[in-house]
Amino acid sequence: MNIQEIITKKRDHNKLTREEICFFVKEYVKDNITDYQAAALVMAMYLNGMDEEETKNLTIEMAESGEILDLSEIGKTVVDKHSTGGVGDKITIILTPIIASLGIPVAKMSGRGLGFTGGTIDKLESIPGYNTSLSMEKFIESVKNIGISLIGQTANLAPADKKLYALRDSIACVDSIPLISSSIMSKKIAAGADKIVLDVTVGSGAFMQTKEDAVKISKMMKSIGQLAGKETICVLTNMDEPVGHAVGNTLEIIEAVNCLKGNIPEDIKEIILTIGSYIIKLAGEGENLEENREKILENIGNKKAYAKFLELVKNQGGQVEYIENLDLFEKAKITIPIHAKQAGYIHKLDAKKIGEASVKLGAGRIKKEDSIDYSVGFYLEKKIGDKVEIGDILAYVYANDEDNANSVIEDVQDAYIINEENIEKPDVIIDII
Ligand code: URA
Repeated sequence: MNIQEIITKKRDHNKLTREEICFFVKEYVKDNITDYQAAALVMAMYLNGMDEEETKNLTIEMAESGEILDLSEIGKTVVDKHSTGGVGDKITIILTPIIASLGIPVAKMSGRGLGFTGGTIDKLESIPGYNTSLSMEKFIESVKNIGISLIGQTANLAPADKKLYALRDSIACVDSIPLISSSIMSKKIAAGADKIVLDVTVGSGAFMQTKEDAVKISKMMKSIGQLAGKETICVLTNMDEPVGHAVGNTLEIIEAVNCLKGNIPEDIKEIILTIGSYIIKLAGEGENLEENREKILENIGNKKAYAKFLELVKNQGGQVEYIENLDLFEKAKITIPIHAKQAGYIHKLDAKKIGEASVKLGAGRIKKEDSIDYSVGFYLEKKIGDKVEIGDILAYVYANDEDNANSVIEDVQDAYIINEENIEKPDVIIDII
């Protein structure tokens, strides 16, 4: 078997065998296949597709390319939560301490932002001192001791996906249903949880632009989960506009803390309650979804979820005084309000445009090696369905450099489409699969 034969086969629309996929993954991780050969094969997979069997084989091979974590020591059902990515998505930071405060263990590895979508690990690292790279022993010990740990992916977790994801990003092959589903599920299988709840985002700020594609990828990921013996539920959420009001690392931590203190925007609340109630159900801690929603609201109201977040931050070396006094976070030097130029209702607030503008400000990275500026971003005062008058503030830009700030003003104005007609706020939950 050699890589040229495998590339030829996929180039000519033929199905790859398990052995061929295994050969490709193993030899690529060992650097016996060059990046240009892998790029040719990945492009052929992207253009000509892969069926369910090929996708499952690719997933399993990538999951087994590194260590598979054993979380059995935790002694309880562990439910993992993962989002397919978006703009302003701070759901993990709010939801996981709520779940842990209900006595359900959270052992979660999250990713960094790449392109216009943000990443939980970058957001957590904006808390001074917070260590996202605990050893495996300390990770599991933390879950046993305080019920929660949130860290970045270890180097040896699905290393084939790490290599392939970077390659796909550099050759414009990210947005493919078989490639995204195998990438996400390989990491979820390797991360060792018993069950999985996936937040499948749909809309302009997501990889899946249509509900139809989101349903397809959800069915694929559920089927892979079933093969791996991990019950999987997909919650399809709207990503046509950013989640909540804040976009940018520190700004999102501040919004997340305010949510944990009970000050929650409606869209975030609905996502937290829906995904959270399924996590509680899969963990075997409550069959009734309505009652589960009540449990979540109760632990926000009685501040147990907030207390758990403080415990998490402290346990991972973070300076809790920043959480207790949000004014301590370093502020961006420049704040510019963006005003509405016409009256009416907000019909569109393009999540992708806002995400791209936040990268321009320095909140995200274009290349993996880029450093990020935690303090910059946006606060979106107005969202879809809101009524505005001429001159009302639509959003604030937070920047550290005047040129930079000026360069995004037009982007933000373009992201908002205002129309005279009244429009309802969009549904946040699109479907459950
Ligand atoms: N998130 C992942 O982990 N992989 C993808 O391919 C896309 C989003």
